[in-house]
Amino acid sequence: MTAIILVRGDITRQSVDAIVNAANSSLLGGGGVDGAIHRRGGPAILAECRRLRASHLGKGLPTGRAVATTAGQLDARWVIHTVGPVYRASGSEPSLLTSCYRESLRVADELGARTVAFPAISTGVYGWPMTDAARIAVAAVREAETEVEEVRFVLFDERAYEAFAAQLD
Ligand code: ADP
Repeated sequence: MTAIILVRGDITRQSVDAIVNAANSSLLGGGGVDGAIHRRGGPAILAECRRLRASHLGKGLPTGRAVATTAGQLDARWVIHTVGPVYRASGSEPSLLTSCYRESLRVADELGARTVAFPAISTGVYGWPMTDAARIAVAAVREAETEVEEVRFVLFDERAYEAFAAQLD
């Protein structure tokens, strides 16, 4: 059984085996969680992302997939980068958001990570409505078959925290 824990705060301040990054497919940095992780984690993370781009991820990381790098100076062993789907009112693909959580946990299992911190993927610049994103995130983790013992959702503000808390009631 994977325990689900909610924390309000900054994901870059967490002490866990793996911190999940809401990256973009370029893996070469962005704003939001991505910017914060690279700022606090230092240049080693970006250097490894560049190496991935130069080798087997030449076209970037597809939406819904996940890949691990060093965590640099963060208090974690790995950063797992995943690319959330952009929300479109005309039709978005919830299965791609589910896939981000599932694939990140699969990578965590491959690494042997037992504690994993997730942000609310796709709810920033990618625009996914928080309540729906929280529902998808919690269901994905509950349904995952994983050796991860603790999934910690790290929610940046009260609104995000409340949306996730409502899913755990
Ligand atoms: P995406 O591109 O997948 O939408 P963002 O990084 O823009 O990703 O935002 C994802 C969520 O993470 C948003 O709810 C945002 O408020 C939140 N967020 C931004 N910075 C941090 C941080 N340092 N720690 C935790 N959550 C954060």
